[in-house]
Amino acid sequence: MAGRKVIITGVPGVGKSTVVNGALAKLKEEGITYQSLNFGTFMFEVAQKEGYAKDRDEMRKLDKDVQKNLQKLAAKAMSQIPGNVLIDTHASVKTPKGYLAGLPEWVLRELMPDVIVLVETDEDQILLRRISDATRVRDMEGAGGIAEHQQFNRSFGASYAMTTGCTIKIIRNQDFLLERATMDMADVLR
Ligand code: AMP
Ligand code: MG
Repeated sequence: MAGRKVIITGVPGVGKSTVVNGALAKLKEEGITYQSLNFGTFMFEVAQKEGYAKDRDEMRKLDKDVQKNLQKLAAKAMSQIPGNVLIDTHASVKTPKGYLAGLPEWVLRELMPDVIVLVETDEDQILLRRISDATRVRDMEGAGGIAEHQQFNRSFGASYAMTTGCTIKIIRNQDFLLERATMDMADVLR
């Protein structure tokens, strides 16, 4: 059987990586494995080599066309990987000049996902999670901005489903309910 392609999205700080890692650990016990890829890491490898950015959080401030070029190269590289693939990325990237689609048509054509997951939770929870994460250079943004970003991501999701025929799954990663989110994610990957 051909591998499954699953794209995981969610605003910064929603806890995508935590939920994904929990789900992958569960599936491993069942003998189901995924190659887990991070879209931003693929972009950053090129960005760093070309001298565009010194850390991954600088990339969303780059010129739009530079970002799109990095995006295209990353998608091409990831499309070469066979088997079950899970891609950690963003439905949209909040740049200083507006929302940039994370999965425009030329990216989707390379990746052709079976399902796109939107990981969400309440904006006040995301705000607190961002404040307590010192490992990243998060943009200063209020709850209203986070709510707008999540709302916009659903709209992007609808258009991605139209382009590819993939399904869109919304998973809530609420405070104190990580186990629930992890189980929901494992169900999508199974
Ligand atoms: P992350 O570690 O997931 O927050 O990703 C780091 C950075 O990679 C983001 O802030 C974006 O600049 C970039 N990035 C990740 N996925 C995409 C994408 N699909 N399209 C454009 N930029 C992306
Ligand atoms: Mg992450």
